[in-house]
Amino acid sequence: MGAIVLIAILLFGAMTMGMLYPFFTEQIEGALDDELRTIAAALEQSGEEILPSLGEANADSRLTWISEDGEVLFDSRSDAQSMENHLHRPEVEQALQKGVGGSIRRSDTLGVRTIYRALRMGDGSVLRISEDQSSIAGLLLRLLPFFAVMLCLTFFLIALVSKRVTQRIVQPINALDLNAPADNVTYPELTPLLKRMAEQMRSIDRYIAELTAQKTEFAAITQNMREALLLLNARGEIVFLNHSATEMFGLEREKCEGQYLLALSRNMRLSEALEAAKRGESFSEVMERNGRQYQLIASPVQKDGEVTGVVLLLPDISARVAAEKSRREFTANVSHELKTPLTIILGYAEIMENGIAGEDKLREFAGRVHQEAERMLAMIEDILKLSRLDEGRLPDIPRPVALKALCERVARRFEEPAKAADLTIRVEGEEAEVQGQETMLEEVVTNLVDNAVKYNRPGGSVEITIARSTDGVRLCVRDSGVGIPKEYQQRVFERFFRVDQSHSDSVKGTGLGLSIVKHAAALHRAEVTLESQVGKGTAISLRFPLPDQL
Ligand code: ADP
Repeated sequence: MGAIVLIAILLFGAMTMGMLYPFFTEQIEGALDDELRTIAAALEQSGEEILPSLGEANADSRLTWISEDGEVLFDSRSDAQSMENHLHRPEVEQALQKGVGGSIRRSDTLGVRTIYRALRMGDGSVLRISEDQSSIAGLLLRLLPFFAVMLCLTFFLIALVSKRVTQRIVQPINALDLNAPADNVTYPELTPLLKRMAEQMRSIDRYIAELTAQKTEFAAITQNMREALLLLNARGEIVFLNHSATEMFGLEREKCEGQYLLALSRNMRLSEALEAAKRGESFSEVMERNGRQYQLIASPVQKDGEVTGVVLLLPDISARVAAEKSRREFTANVSHELKTPLTIILGYAEIMENGIAGEDKLREFAGRVHQEAERMLAMIEDILKLSRLDEGRLPDIPRPVALKALCERVARRFEEPAKAADLTIRVEGEEAEVQGQETMLEEVVTNLVDNAVKYNRPGGSVEITIARSTDGVRLCVRDSGVGIPKEYQQRVFERFFRVDQSHSDSVKGTGLGLSIVKHAAALHRAEVTLESQVGKGTAISLRFPLPDQL
């Protein structure tokens, strides 16, 4: 505003000057004409002697008297004699022709721009008066202080008004409630801006809500994952890690985001995985940590062909590794266990084939071959049962099974062998139903009763009890037999494990019976407990959940 006003004032000044200049020139010309006439009258009256005094009296102007033929007769500022002929000066020429003349030009004598007025006298000579034009500039210069004062006043006013105007514009802007732009009441020029702001805020809110929902969803999925999940940037710094990852590496989430993973966990496998991913390759290896096995999977995150990050996923594969190990061991054991009876069979067969054995022995050997072949068959049957159980689920839909009736059936089958071994066998308790598969449960009870009969002593007893309570149905097979030493009480459930090899040799068995019990019980969600005292007896119990607890 200041600059605009300054330019306006300067323009106004220049225009005023331009307009005043000719006006002042006319004024001076008029004044000079009047003066000239007065001097001319004085000259005609008093003669040429008066001229020097007249020239001195009018110090501002110059007086020149020129003869009819142009000779300078008198000059109030220069020596008349040394001056050239003035006949062709425009004002002189005009005066000679018309009686009066005037011109504004540069003076040849004084070298300044000058206003000339000339008058022809009665005797034909010309009287001339002149004044230099700079006096007009002087006049105009006198106006300058007025302009300066005007300028100062204007600037003061501008400052005052600008401040007021700026305040009136800015104050409502500062007072705006930007959280609700549309609710502000202010001057109308701001309304379009506020509307745009309100629109933008709405879209920002929508965007934030979307992002938050995505983040919550991502967090809900990843935080509940059993697998450890880490996201790293291209430099290997942790961008995100889930709950399982913090537990696995023993880290605190807040402290490790933004840190280098390799600085927090120096692990060869991890650094190999990161290197591979940074090269853009996928990596998958087994990694061991805190005694557990993890499948370390590293995948590069690529954008426009460049690796921008790495995703690390570490599922816990300990159970799978253990299962594989036990499967390998089982295969080795099966081969070994089947080899033993087969070697025995082969031995007897060879003896019989060679005819080394006497007629009386032949019968006995054939009996041994029969016995071992039976043992092998039993073992193969048990192995098949176990491998079916290994599938980890019941082959059929569970149905209600009357447990007491089932136990009584099994007990009846063992009546003969029990009698032969001088044992009593009893089923006690009330009828109770469990959900399950009947043939499998019969197999379980058979195995338990079989053991109770096999590892018993003459005169002993086998007692099967069924009891129902609020925490489930309990089936217990108790015997008064040899018992199991404490150190073996857990191991008897292992495959092919038999307590005392020399003692077991005399009793037929595969070492798989209790493994089958354990597996089948697990499929029925039944809990197995074993209590035993050497020389006193053994009790193996299964607690089945009630149908509503399943
Ligand atoms: P097996 O075919 O040898 O009976 P099991 O798996 O059924 O195989 O049993 C494993 C071992 O546990 C047996 O060899 C035996 O030594 C011991 N055992 C099982 N049940 C009893 C029991 N009721 N009394 C004493 N020892 C038992």
